[in-house]
Amino acid sequence: MAFKLIDLPYPDTALEPAVSAETLSYHHGKHHKAYIDKTNAAIEGSDHANGSLIEVIAAARGSNQGLFNNAAQSWNHGFYWYSLSPTASNPSNELRSMIDQSFGSVDALIEQLKERGAGHFASGWVWLAEKNGALSIEETHDGDTLADQQGVNPLLVIDLWEHAYYLDHQNARPQYLDAVMDKLNWSFAAENLTRGKTWEYPG
Ligand code: FE
Repeated sequence: MAFKLIDLPYPDTALEPAVSAETLSYHHGKHHKAYIDKTNAAIEGSDHANGSLIEVIAAARGSNQGLFNNAAQSWNHGFYWYSLSPTASNPSNELRSMIDQSFGSVDALIEQLKERGAGHFASGWVWLAEKNGALSIEETHDGDTLADQQGVNPLLVIDLWEHAYYLDHQNARPQYLDAVMDKLNWSFAAENLTRGKTWEYPG
């Protein structure tokens, strides 16, 4: 089964000025598409061809770095599109109480996400995740992902690669992080928490 480049869940202008249509045209139309195309080319005719994207990621981790990078980036970008939304939302009651328990408040969580995102060296991802019944902020480097990691349920992610923000904010990653904090899709985070298992890339 070939994986598809999923559509953005909003018009490409919807996140402006935090993330412009021009950025999305490259980020979704070129970068994400290339990760999907390379994943499909690598699994064509192999045992992986009938697996879910998470199964492909798990099988490739530690054994096929090229496939792992492309498959993990395919999943990470799908998850990132859904982690942002032009529609303002608030954490559900369940999510809010877990945020309060782990971080003190939603504002404190947002400050920590911005700090960890700004401090992350070079390319990668900053995540809000549920781990052993508590919430934590996680970072992964380059194309690495939480998707296949046991005991971790990713709730939200922010792309820290320069291609995510350079056209709009140049080198000012903190400015990009400030801007996207207003676009976090708390409804998606709550769905992920309630499901209790890792989001599947739509097939
Ligand atoms: Fe990206």
